[in-house]
Amino acid sequence: MTSSQELFDRAKTLMPGGVNSPVRAFGQVGGTPRFMVDAKGPYITDADGREYVDLVCSWGPALLGHSHPDVLAAVHAAVDHGLSFGASTPAESELAMLVKGRVPGVEHLRMVSTGTEATMTAVRLARGYTGRDLIVKFAGCYHGHLDSLLAAAGSGLATLALPGSAGVTAATAAQTLVLPYNDLAAVEAAFAAHGERIAAVITEAAPANMGVVTPGEGFNAGLSRITTAHGALLIFDEVLTGFRTGPAGYWGLTGAEEGWTPDLFTFGKVIGGGLPTAALGGRLDVMDYLAPLGPVYQAGTLSGNPVAMAAGVATLTAATSSVYEIVDARSLELSAALSTALAAEGVDHSVQRAGNLFSVAFGTGAHGVHNYDDAQAQEVFRYAPFFHSMLDSGVYLPPSVFEAWFLSGAHDDAAMNRIFEALPAAAKAAASA
Ligand code: PMP
Repeated sequence: MTSSQELFDRAKTLMPGGVNSPVRAFGQVGGTPRFMVDAKGPYITDADGREYVDLVCSWGPALLGHSHPDVLAAVHAAVDHGLSFGASTPAESELAMLVKGRVPGVEHLRMVSTGTEATMTAVRLARGYTGRDLIVKFAGCYHGHLDSLLAAAGSGLATLALPGSAGVTAATAAQTLVLPYNDLAAVEAAFAAHGERIAAVITEAAPANMGVVTPGEGFNAGLSRITTAHGALLIFDEVLTGFRTGPAGYWGLTGAEEGWTPDLFTFGKVIGGGLPTAALGGRLDVMDYLAPLGPVYQAGTLSGNPVAMAAGVATLTAATSSVYEIVDARSLELSAALSTALAAEGVDHSVQRAGNLFSVAFGTGAHGVHNYDDAQAQEVFRYAPFFHSMLDSGVYLPPSVFEAWFLSGAHDDAAMNRIFEALPAAAKAAASA
């Protein structure tokens, strides 16, 4: 029996499903989840000493690769001064300045510990600021596990084929309007019907939790226009895309060029460099509606934790334009190689792209995936054999077809070649599924 199997068996006696986050249980792909003990650069090593090229990158944070020397040094230095003070620290402002320097629409910022807290606070703030109750979200977009946004939420719910979560009251669900992604006419219609009551539209800057979906030309700009026209807020969820799809996230690739800015942004993952930090930020008048200045309450014992701030500052400082050039280039190389390998085996697929994010969808034909219905209509069964073939060849992919593949600035030629060599056999496995 492998160590991972023994560890999983023990974990199952202690934790629901043996995990602390559902997709880690390998529910869609089957088999034994690998228990990880070490990660450096583009590699991650399991409890049996097997090394994998890592295409999960902690689900996004490891933009620089694992254990980047600057980040580890900053964390070690911070640790030597204490782990948590429960008081303000200089590093919080340093990280806020780095964020603001990249995303000028972030006039004020509030640090929290997880992406879920960031979106939860943004939703409460939007309601408090506008005095309205309804929130619009898009099917297939995941914003964390807050009650009001768990309907048709992608990510682990897509993996487990759940329409929503038990435990969310009908009253809460009724305050969320779920619309099809990439459909501005549906947004216009929702505002025509309920415009006076809609506090905010929340959207993933580019969806990556139903697999990756490209926001259609003008979609995000249209959301900005419609929300502004109706006095509602646009919450641009960059928890996954922020500081990953470019120095200024997905907004930097779209809004910055097109001349629109969301009212609120949410960030997570890269901003904490692998430690638990996330944030919301945006318009001064909206952000200052938060306590202690305003009536919307939010707080956190570990918010702005000094060790996490040090990791975030070191990560954003080391994430120079050359890191983004590497990730962009590797993303193009890998998605092309993936497509070539699948085409060679006659596997109907689309490689879904948004900036440097990508994922694969099977059986989607030339049409590809534009919304949650498309994502759910795909041949999910082809992913498990594909995934396990890659795993056997030493490549660690996300254990669900509904997740993006993550690269880092540390994915060098040696790591990429290992992935390329693994692809033909995996494509064959997908073909014969
Ligand atoms: N928003 C988006 C777009 C995400 O991808 C995620 C997590 N994958 C979240 C919010 C929630 O973040 P967390 O898991 O840190 O709560």
